[in-house]
Amino acid sequence: MRILFLSNLFSSYENILSKALSELNLSGFTISDEPNEKVDEVEFIIYSPTRKNEAIVTHDFTNYRNNKAIFSLYAGVESLINNNTFDCPLVKMVDNGLTSGMVEWCVAHTLRIHLGIDRHILGQDGIWRHDIKPPLAKDRNVGILGLGVLGEPTAHALRYLGFNVFGWSRTPKNLEGVSCFHASEGFKKILNVTEILIVLLPLTSQTFKILNSDTIPLMPKNSAVINAGRGDLIDDEALLKNLKAGHISNATLDVFSMEPLPPSHPYWHHPLVTVTPHIAADTPVESSAKAIAMNIKLVMQGKKPKGLVNIKRGY
Ligand code: NAP
Repeated sequence: MRILFLSNLFSSYENILSKALSELNLSGFTISDEPNEKVDEVEFIIYSPTRKNEAIVTHDFTNYRNNKAIFSLYAGVESLINNNTFDCPLVKMVDNGLTSGMVEWCVAHTLRIHLGIDRHILGQDGIWRHDIKPPLAKDRNVGILGLGVLGEPTAHALRYLGFNVFGWSRTPKNLEGVSCFHASEGFKKILNVTEILIVLLPLTSQTFKILNSDTIPLMPKNSAVINAGRGDLIDDEALLKNLKAGHISNATLDVFSMEPLPPSHPYWHHPLVTVTPHIAADTPVESSAKAIAMNIKLVMQGKKPKGLVNIKRGY
């Protein structure tokens, strides 16, 4: 029985995953990062995207005829959705550490923008700006696109701080204290009321460049955008145009169409854009190894793993 580790994170996971498997009494597995060895014995594949010449490598899974599931080390699985070389279940990463990281990052940047913290801590110049009073959360509307594993707890954390929280998803939701919208008819509604927009959508054919020159202007003047989903959820040109026009006051971006973001990209030099290098939520090795081991156990028992992706839906 083999577990094939198709990721450059193999050395970080090898021992910790073995331990996590044995703690669940799952023995007899060999974990390897050698894709061409004993392909018929591969029963599970653990995957994260790797790049060659900046493009994500597309793997051919056809040879792994006995593979029972592919486990992604990331929550975003767009690089595997259109891969037609496998028909086993695809499972995205669901991990408490990853979720906590995302909630903390989104709350931190929402507070930073809400309180105008940059104004006081960047380029301190000896001017006593006592007349600028910080607002209260109860007077601020925050919208979250995507109310899934990451969006829902972010909504609750912001609600706990007192923000007026609005959320948007594909299907209807009922979250305590959160005004929920859904589907295309709800999209315009959430954009209309949102002053700080947090993007936590997966990248699919439906969400590609969902924030564009038609939709960004639906937000009130001076609103801010925080994108921790995927770079291609936003049309960069439209965002830059709306920043220039003063319609959008700030964009905090963790994810980009091209990663790493090239040094010449205008986002790096824009005074109203904050770039972070895809670090909003990291997958912690120890807890995620336990999550994968548990999912392997569930699959072996014929049960549904946590984070099962609906390939047709795209996430
Ligand atoms: P998830 O649990 O699959 O949730 C996705 C949410 O988006 C759901 O609420 C879903 O609606 C909604 N959605 C999907 N398509 C939609 C559409 N067409 N219209 C309206 N709503 C739609 O995903 P997650 O685990 O929260 O992760 C979200 C994304 O975050 C990932 O896909 C990944 O790209 C990104 N991410 C980034 C980082 C980082 O470090 N920056 C780390 C982890 C993840 P329903 O609830 O109705 O299905």
